[in-house]
This record gives sequence, C-alpha cells and structure tokens, in this order.
Amino acid sequence: MNELICKLTGANMDIDLASPPGSIAWQQQKCPWNEAEKSGEHRCAVKNVSLCPYFCGVEYPDSLLCSYPYPNPLVSKATEAG
Ligand code: SF4
Repeated sequence: MNELICKLTGANMDIDLASPPGSIAWQQQKCPWNEAEKSGEHRCAVKNVSLCPYFCGVEYPDSLLCSYPYPNPLVSKATEAG
C-alpha cells in the first residue's frame, strides 16, 4: 500500500465479474465459479446481501482477488456470524 492511499474498512459495494458481453466499455475477466458452472449467477459482493465465499477483496485499481475453488476462511467466518 502506498502512503497516498488510505485503507478504509467496511465499505458497502456491489462487485461482480458477470457482465453480459457488450454491456460494459472495458475488458472484464470471467468469474471462475460461473465459468465452471456455465452460469452467470455468482456475484463477488452484493451490497447489504452477500459476500462470495471465495471473495478475498479488491486491489487497486480494479483487480478482484478470488480464491476459487478454495473458500476464504475470513469470509466464511463473517457469513456464519451473520
Ligand atoms: S469471488 Fe471469485 S468465485 Fe466469487 S463471484 Fe467473485 S470471481 Fe466468482
């Protein structure tokens, strides 16, 4: 982390790698879970609703950190806690 960037925790945000082809103006890699299941249903983080069990955060500027197929124990613990 560089000294110009603050790391602030607990943000509410929606994140996914499931945009339909042609719906966004930038390149996006596919969610490996969606790829494995040939679906588009899995979302990394849905505001006030859910965190994917494989979600490991985001990295500047726009990279998603994903542990699929190994669940992130921190996410699992947070989900269990409610
Ligand atoms: S965290 Fe990984 S497996 Fe989960 S929805 Fe995002 S890209 Fe897919």
